[in-house]
Amino acid sequence: HDDGEGNLRLAAIGERRSVLSRPDPQTRHKALVLAANVDVAVIVASAKAPGFRPALIDRCLIAIWHGGATPMVCLNKVDLIDGEERAQMQARLGAYGDLGIEVRLTSTETGEGVAELIAGLAGKTCVLLGHSGVGKSSLLNAMDPERERRTSRGREFDGKGRHTTTASELVELADGTRLIDTPGVRSFGLWEIRSDEVQDYFPELAEVAGSCRYRDCSHLVEPGCAVPEALAAGTLHAARFDAYRRIRSSLEV
Ligand code: GDP
Ligand code: ZN
Repeated sequence: HDDGEGNLRLAAIGERRSVLSRPDPQTRHKALVLAANVDVAVIVASAKAPGFRPALIDRCLIAIWHGGATPMVCLNKVDLIDGEERAQMQARLGAYGDLGIEVRLTSTETGEGVAELIAGLAGKTCVLLGHSGVGKSSLLNAMDPERERRTSRGREFDGKGRHTTTASELVELADGTRLIDTPGVRSFGLWEIRSDEVQDYFPELAEVAGSCRYRDCSHLVEPGCAVPEALAAGTLHAARFDAYRRIRSSLEV
């Protein structure tokens, strides 16, 4: 509902425990609250068609941790990759597993991993995030068999007859799982986070930082930075460090 300040938010149920927001494209300094009271935010990525695009995973992780929810990573469409590609993908996703993030491989085509995903979310309030085409709707349909019938009725309109693009729907399933169905969640802005705070959301960097020469090391240019060594030793995942660099520079404007 509209809270009077122009911020759309899910009608809150009790206290807000966690929140996922993104900048309002109209007013940069306002947040559009995408979902409140989220326990688990599942970041859905596709193994193929569309190709794996991990940048959103790293951005989502920051927004999810910042908002106080627990992230999960789901690689969908694993039916489209062969054994070798699968091993590569698993190695790539190991960076998230190493952070204690649950990583699941699913296929709504073959059903692989879907029941396990559903069981893992039982009783929780969940939201699925990810690029268009990765299979969020297909996964939601698998979790909520009634969904297809409801959504086929057509597009949702708000009380004033406008097409709603940010309103969220909350569906409670038989096993007590609550699904937040947010249309059009593609990217998260990180507008509330300063560039020097980015490393707080890369716990593996914080670990390395203890050995950097300077306490406030940005790990980008400083002499005596421990990152190059950690990268060479493989204790820090190169792809995650790239994400750190990219996200930092995107905030330094
Ligand atoms: P969304 O945009 O993230 O909601 O993605 P959709 O659920 O609409 O799926 C996009 C397309 O991918 C559809 O044509 C689905 O049938 C297909 N798709 C979804 N999951 C899978 C999967 O696990 N394997 C394969 N091969 N195709 C899938
Ligand atoms: Zn450093």
